[in-house]
Amino acid sequence: MRKNITPQTLQRLPMYLNYLKSLPKNSGNVNISATAIAEALNLNDVQVRKDLASVSRGGKPKVGYVTEELIGDIGQFLGFENKTGVIIAGVGNLGRALLAFDGFGDYGLNILAGFDENKDIAGTEINGKPVFSVSELKAFCKKENVKIGIITVPESAAQEICDIMVSSGITAIMNFAPVHLIAPESVTIKNENMAISLAMLSRNFQ
Ligand code: NAD
Repeated sequence: MRKNITPQTLQRLPMYLNYLKSLPKNSGNVNISATAIAEALNLNDVQVRKDLASVSRGGKPKVGYVTEELIGDIGQFLGFENKTGVIIAGVGNLGRALLAFDGFGDYGLNILAGFDENKDIAGTEINGKPVFSVSELKAFCKKENVKIGIITVPESAAQEICDIMVSSGITAIMNFAPVHLIAPESVTIKNENMAISLAMLSRNFQ
Protein backbone atom coordinates (compact mmCIF):
# COMPACT_ATOMS: atom_id res chain seq x y z
CA MET A 1 0.00 0.00 0.00
CA ARG A 2 2.52 2.57 -1.18
CA LYS A 3 0.68 5.88 -0.87
CA ASN A 4 2.22 9.29 -1.30
CA ILE A 5 4.66 9.28 1.56
CA THR A 6 6.29 12.55 2.53
CA PRO A 7 10.04 12.64 3.29
CA GLN A 8 9.10 13.55 6.89
CA THR A 9 6.98 10.41 7.26
CA LEU A 10 9.76 8.36 5.69
CA GLN A 11 12.19 9.71 8.28
CA ARG A 12 9.85 8.88 11.18
CA LEU A 13 9.09 5.30 10.11
CA PRO A 14 12.48 3.86 11.20
CA MET A 15 11.93 5.53 14.58
CA TYR A 16 8.58 3.75 15.01
CA LEU A 17 10.13 0.49 13.91
CA ASN A 18 12.98 0.86 16.38
CA TYR A 19 10.61 1.63 19.22
CA LEU A 20 8.26 -1.27 18.41
CA LYS A 21 11.18 -3.70 18.20
CA SER A 22 12.48 -2.48 21.57
CA LEU A 23 9.23 -3.39 23.37
CA PRO A 24 9.45 -6.48 25.57
CA LYS A 25 7.55 -9.36 24.02
CA ASN A 26 4.92 -9.80 26.73
CA SER A 27 1.13 -9.92 26.84
CA GLY A 28 0.96 -6.18 27.57
CA ASN A 29 2.44 -5.39 24.18
CA VAL A 30 0.44 -7.63 21.86
CA ASN A 31 -1.46 -4.57 20.63
CA ILE A 32 -0.33 -0.98 20.47
CA SER A 33 -2.12 2.24 19.63
CA ALA A 34 -0.83 5.20 17.66
CA THR A 35 -1.44 7.30 20.78
CA ALA A 36 0.84 5.08 22.89
CA ILE A 37 3.58 5.30 20.26
CA ALA A 38 3.15 9.08 20.03
CA GLU A 39 3.42 9.41 23.82
CA ALA A 40 6.49 7.20 24.03
CA LEU A 41 8.29 9.13 21.28
CA ASN A 42 6.97 12.54 22.29
CA LEU A 43 5.29 13.09 18.92
CA ASN A 44 1.92 14.42 17.84
CA ASP A 45 -0.56 11.53 17.88
CA VAL A 46 -2.52 12.72 14.81
CA GLN A 47 0.74 12.70 12.90
CA VAL A 48 1.66 9.21 14.12
CA ARG A 49 -1.81 7.91 13.24
CA LYS A 50 -1.46 9.31 9.71
CA ASP A 51 2.05 7.92 9.27
CA LEU A 52 1.02 4.44 10.36
CA ALA A 53 -2.15 4.45 8.25
CA SER A 54 0.00 5.14 5.20
CA VAL A 55 1.93 1.89 5.58
CA SER A 56 -0.42 -0.46 7.44
CA ARG A 57 -4.08 -1.38 7.22
CA GLY A 58 -3.96 -3.15 10.59
CA GLY A 59 -5.18 -0.30 12.83
CA LYS A 60 -8.52 -0.92 14.56
CA PRO A 61 -10.50 1.62 16.62
CA LYS A 62 -9.95 1.22 20.39
CA VAL A 63 -7.58 -1.75 19.85
CA GLY A 64 -4.83 -0.20 17.80
CA TYR A 65 -2.39 -2.37 15.88
CA VAL A 66 -1.16 -5.89 16.47
CA THR A 67 2.44 -4.97 17.34
CA GLU A 68 4.12 -7.78 15.37
CA GLU A 69 2.00 -7.06 12.30
CA LEU A 70 2.85 -3.38 12.48
CA ILE A 71 6.56 -4.21 12.75
CA GLY A 72 6.17 -6.40 9.65
CA ASP A 73 4.26 -3.74 7.70
CA ILE A 74 6.72 -0.93 8.45
CA GLY A 75 9.71 -3.21 7.80
CA GLN A 76 8.23 -4.38 4.52
CA PHE A 77 7.45 -0.82 3.44
CA LEU A 78 10.97 0.33 4.18
CA GLY A 79 12.41 -2.75 2.50
CA PHE A 80 14.42 -3.53 5.63
CA GLU A 81 13.72 -7.24 5.29
CA ASN A 82 15.79 -7.47 2.14
CA LYS A 83 19.38 -6.79 3.11
CA THR A 84 20.99 -4.12 0.95
CA GLY A 85 24.75 -4.31 0.46
CA VAL A 86 26.81 -1.21 1.21
CA ILE A 87 30.53 -0.50 0.83
CA ILE A 88 32.75 2.09 2.52
CA ALA A 89 35.67 3.86 0.85
CA GLY A 90 38.26 5.20 3.29
CA VAL A 91 38.97 3.05 6.33
CA GLY A 92 40.45 5.64 8.69
CA ASN A 93 38.92 6.91 11.93
CA LEU A 94 35.40 7.31 10.60
CA GLY A 95 35.31 4.42 8.12
CA ARG A 96 36.63 2.09 10.79
CA ALA A 97 33.93 3.19 13.24
CA LEU A 98 31.20 2.62 10.65
CA LEU A 99 32.56 -0.84 9.77
CA ALA A 100 32.60 -1.71 13.47
CA PHE A 101 28.99 -0.62 14.00
CA ASP A 102 26.50 -3.49 13.88
CA GLY A 103 23.34 -1.35 14.07
CA PHE A 104 22.94 -0.91 10.30
CA GLY A 105 21.54 -4.43 10.10
CA ASP A 106 18.40 -3.27 11.94
CA TYR A 107 17.70 -1.02 8.96
CA GLY A 108 18.20 -3.65 6.29
CA LEU A 109 21.72 -2.52 5.48
CA ASN A 110 24.66 -4.86 5.28
CA ILE A 111 28.10 -3.26 5.22
CA LEU A 112 29.92 -5.73 3.00
CA ALA A 113 33.45 -4.38 2.89
CA GLY A 114 35.75 -1.40 3.21
CA PHE A 115 38.23 -0.10 0.64
CA ASP A 116 41.40 1.89 1.25
CA GLU A 117 44.46 2.94 -0.71
CA ASN A 118 46.76 2.34 2.25
CA LYS A 119 48.52 -1.03 1.74
CA ASP A 120 48.74 -1.55 5.52
CA ILE A 121 44.96 -1.26 5.86
CA ALA A 122 43.91 -3.19 2.74
CA GLY A 123 43.96 -6.91 3.46
CA THR A 124 42.84 -6.50 7.08
CA GLU A 125 39.42 -7.15 8.63
CA ILE A 126 37.30 -4.97 10.88
CA ASN A 127 34.45 -6.53 12.78
CA GLY A 128 34.66 -9.51 10.43
CA LYS A 129 34.33 -7.22 7.38
CA PRO A 130 37.13 -7.41 4.80
CA VAL A 131 39.07 -4.34 3.75
CA PHE A 132 40.31 -4.42 0.16
CA SER A 133 42.50 -2.20 -1.95
CA VAL A 134 40.53 0.61 -3.59
CA SER A 135 41.65 -0.83 -6.94
CA GLU A 136 39.28 -3.74 -6.26
CA LEU A 137 36.24 -1.56 -5.57
CA LYS A 138 34.77 -1.61 -9.05
CA ALA A 139 35.00 -5.37 -9.57
CA PHE A 140 33.59 -6.01 -6.09
CA CYS A 141 30.59 -3.72 -6.59
CA LYS A 142 29.80 -5.21 -9.98
CA LYS A 143 30.05 -8.76 -8.64
CA GLU A 144 27.97 -8.08 -5.52
CA ASN A 145 25.63 -5.66 -7.29
CA VAL A 146 26.32 -2.97 -4.69
CA LYS A 147 24.25 0.17 -5.15
CA ILE A 148 25.12 2.17 -2.00
CA GLY A 149 28.52 3.60 -1.08
CA ILE A 150 29.80 5.59 1.87
CA ILE A 151 32.67 8.04 1.36
CA THR A 152 34.98 8.53 4.32
CA VAL A 153 38.18 9.54 2.53
CA PRO A 154 39.84 12.96 2.94
CA GLU A 155 38.30 15.87 1.07
CA SER A 156 41.06 15.79 -1.57
CA ALA A 157 40.22 12.19 -2.61
CA ALA A 158 36.42 12.35 -2.36
CA GLN A 159 35.59 13.32 -5.97
CA GLU A 160 37.89 10.64 -7.37
CA ILE A 161 36.21 8.03 -5.14
CA CYS A 162 32.78 9.34 -6.12
CA ASP A 163 33.70 8.89 -9.80
CA ILE A 164 34.92 5.34 -9.16
CA MET A 165 31.71 4.53 -7.27
CA VAL A 166 29.54 5.90 -10.07
CA SER A 167 31.45 3.89 -12.69
CA SER A 168 30.98 0.83 -10.45
CA GLY A 169 27.19 1.08 -10.68
CA ILE A 170 26.60 2.75 -7.31
CA THR A 171 23.52 4.96 -7.40
CA ALA A 172 23.35 6.30 -3.83
CA ILE A 173 26.26 7.84 -1.94
CA MET A 174 26.52 8.98 1.64
CA ASN A 175 29.36 11.47 1.69
CA PHE A 176 31.14 12.43 4.90
CA ALA A 177 33.91 14.43 3.21
CA PRO A 178 33.32 18.19 3.45
CA VAL A 179 33.20 18.72 -0.30
CA HIS A 180 30.50 19.21 -2.92
CA LEU A 181 30.56 16.13 -5.12
CA ILE A 182 29.66 16.19 -8.77
CA ALA A 183 27.77 13.16 -10.04
CA PRO A 184 25.13 12.35 -12.68
CA GLU A 185 21.56 13.33 -11.77
CA SER A 186 20.62 9.68 -11.51
CA VAL A 187 22.94 9.33 -8.49
CA THR A 188 21.60 10.41 -5.09
CA ILE A 189 24.17 12.05 -2.86
CA LYS A 190 23.52 12.61 0.81
CA ASN A 191 26.06 14.80 2.53
CA GLU A 192 26.67 14.20 6.20
CA ASN A 193 28.53 17.11 7.69
CA MET A 194 28.79 16.71 11.44
CA ALA A 195 30.46 20.10 11.86
CA ILE A 196 27.46 21.85 10.26
CA SER A 197 25.01 19.83 12.36
CA LEU A 198 26.92 20.73 15.50
CA ALA A 199 27.18 24.38 14.50
CA MET A 200 23.40 24.48 13.93
CA LEU A 201 22.83 22.87 17.29
CA SER A 202 25.07 25.40 18.97
CA ARG A 203 23.04 28.23 17.38
CA ASN A 204 20.02 27.01 19.34
CA PHE A 205 21.78 27.88 22.56
CA GLN A 206 22.79 31.38 21.61
P1 NAD B 1 41.32 9.50 8.21
O1 NAD B 1 42.47 10.27 7.69
O2 NAD B 1 41.42 8.85 9.56
O3 NAD B 1 40.94 8.34 7.17
C1 NAD B 1 40.88 8.53 5.78
C2 NAD B 1 41.20 7.20 5.12
O4 NAD B 1 41.02 7.35 3.72
C3 NAD B 1 42.64 6.73 5.33
O5 NAD B 1 42.65 5.39 5.81
C4 NAD B 1 43.28 6.84 3.96
O6 NAD B 1 44.28 5.84 3.72
C5 NAD B 1 42.06 6.66 3.06
N1 NAD B 1 42.25 7.24 1.73
C6 NAD B 1 42.84 8.40 1.36
N2 NAD B 1 42.77 8.57 0.02
C7 NAD B 1 42.12 7.47 -0.47
C8 NAD B 1 41.75 7.07 -1.77
N3 NAD B 1 42.00 7.82 -2.86
N4 NAD B 1 41.12 5.88 -1.91
C9 NAD B 1 40.85 5.12 -0.83
N5 NAD B 1 41.18 5.45 0.43
C10 NAD B 1 41.81 6.62 0.61
O7 NAD B 1 40.07 10.47 8.14
P2 NAD B 1 38.72 10.41 9.02
O8 NAD B 1 38.90 11.14 10.28
O9 NAD B 1 38.21 9.02 9.08
O10 NAD B 1 37.75 11.31 8.12
C11 NAD B 1 37.31 10.83 6.84
C12 NAD B 1 36.48 11.87 6.14
O11 NAD B 1 35.31 12.11 6.91
C13 NAD B 1 37.19 13.20 5.96
O12 NAD B 1 36.80 13.76 4.73
C14 NAD B 1 36.67 14.02 7.13
O13 NAD B 1 36.70 15.41 6.86
C15 NAD B 1 35.28 13.49 7.27
N6 NAD B 1 34.75 13.58 8.64
C16 NAD B 1 35.39 13.01 9.66
C17 NAD B 1 34.86 13.09 10.95
C18 NAD B 1 35.51 12.44 12.13
O14 NAD B 1 34.91 12.53 13.22
N7 NAD B 1 36.65 11.80 11.99
C19 NAD B 1 33.71 13.75 11.16
C20 NAD B 1 33.07 14.31 10.09
C21 NAD B 1 33.59 14.19 8.84
